Amino acid sequence: MKHKRAIIWFRNDLRLHDNEALVEALRNADEIIPIYVIDERVFGGKTSFGFPKMGKFRQRFIFESLENLRQNLRQLGSELYVRIGKPEDVVFEIARQAKSSWVYCNRERTDEEVRIQDQLEQKLWSIGQELRFCRGKMLYHTADLPFPVNHTPETFSQYRKEVERITPIREPFATPQYLPQTSFDLAVGDIPTLSTFGFSDFEHDERAVLPFKGGETEGLKRLKYYLWDSDLVKTYEETRNGLIGGDYSSKFSAYLSTGCLSPKMIYHELKKYESARGDNRSTYWLFFELLWRDYFRLIGKKHEKSIFKLGGITGKPDKKWRADERVFNIWAEGKTGIPFIDANMRELNTTGFMSNRGRQNVASFLIKDLNINWLMGAEWFESQLIDYDPCSNYVNWMYIAGVGNDPREDRYFNILTQASRYDTRGDYVKLWLPELQKVSVEKIHRPDMLTEEEQMSCCLKLGVNYPKAMISSSKWLKF
Ligand SMILES: Cc1cc2nc3c(=O)[nH]c(=O)nc-3n(C[C@H](O)[C@H](O)[C@H](O)COP(=O)(O)OP(=O)(O)OC[C@H]3O[C@@H](n4cnc5c(N)ncnc54)[C@H](O)[C@@H]3O)c2cc1C
Repeated sequence: MKHKRAIIWFRNDLRLHDNEALVEALRNADEIIPIYVIDERVFGGKTSFGFPKMGKFRQRFIFESLENLRQNLRQLGSELYVRIGKPEDVVFEIARQAKSSWVYCNRERTDEEVRIQDQLEQKLWSIGQELRFCRGKMLYHTADLPFPVNHTPETFSQYRKEVERITPIREPFATPQYLPQTSFDLAVGDIPTLSTFGFSDFEHDERAVLPFKGGETEGLKRLKYYLWDSDLVKTYEETRNGLIGGDYSSKFSAYLSTGCLSPKMIYHELKKYESARGDNRSTYWLFFELLWRDYFRLIGKKHEKSIFKLGGITGKPDKKWRADERVFNIWAEGKTGIPFIDANMRELNTTGFMSNRGRQNVASFLIKDLNINWLMGAEWFESQLIDYDPCSNYVNWMYIAGVGNDPREDRYFNILTQASRYDTRGDYVKLWLPELQKVSVEKIHRPDMLTEEEQMSCCLKLGVNYPKAMISSSKWLKF
């Protein structure tokens, strides 16, 4: 029999557990060549408004994930070959030289990623090889859904009704116990450092929710911690709107976006946990959030490029939206003079993370209070977030902008009400804005109401060590 070689092109599936591409390649080939290509257009590129396409937080997380993947592959007898370039060229060239039979990869669903995989597929055909697509980013297998992807219901509740009770979630694929080494001679390739793309290394900020470290091993550890070690999942429903620390929510998002953790793995572990320690509304709620994540992926696939456009799915952008750089920069730098907004933006810029509650508020503020083009905000998140995922990010922004498929017409967030409810004593604001440390609980979310004397007594001078509010906080009393 002829000796067959397969390339495994790792993308956003940086793991060995529940990895269909790996399992399928092993089923068909005698040798595997695992490759990761650092796409220079993403790591070194710019968004349409000129922000780095991938900032330092996500870059470092991915490099750590690659180190970990390499170690885990080596333990099983294989290797991770790393290159910098364009995946459609680099993978093709290695496939040509290695005379492989197939390239296996996870199928992506969003515009830029689809273009790359399509180009690679065409090139491989020209040398008689095949790109085989596998799945692994969602809870559900699209083939198991009761509708074709392009008929995904337009509301989440309808979608949930149609899938939740009837569609089974498949078992995760087992982690292989052994991997066949390749006899093809290929340089291993270094994993870059932050300086490769012009970033400086940075220290972990003690105030960050977690010292996020990339990799499958860390992702599985976090899963074990959040379920089995701490039982935090049992109180998720009550804590999930928190703002400070690692424990108020799962913090699975960065592991899910890079594929260090598989959603099916989380689901099955959750089911085991429920059998052993009991289910409640909180354990269900974590599953419910994963359902949202799947839904946004399906919406991304169904509406393709629309999710990246100003008019979104409705095709009707608000005429008030402007791409005003000056106003946008004030928001992005956390200098609006509205403490709840500034604290969240400073957390994002310092750590690469922001809570879900924070994300909803800063997005609503930018779009609905400042009337700024929502794509600028979405691109800033794309640049800064450690857990950036195209569908989760753009579809959430689109919803808040009111150009998605949300049946609730107005998703306006009253910043003052939100700040008072979720940061009642101002602890979160004071954590990120130490200049407001001495402001009283009554005025912590409304420093624009401090008199000159009050400012003096709390060592504050508005316009000097904390900005004057760009919008009077009284605006939110009218609702
Ligand atoms: C404007 C905006 C932009 C966002 N951008 C992203 C993004 O780029 N990447 C990303 O992963 N999430 C994004 N989210 C969703 C959500 O804020 C994060 O997934 C969540 O805060 C991550 O923290 P966690 O893992 O502790 O979440 P948990 O509350 O523990 O939830 C568990 C998991 O469910 C999923 N999930 C939860 N809420 C949502 C949601 N609203 N939409 C989609 N999935 C969800 C995530 O995978 C999350 O890890 C965005 C939300 C908003 C409002």
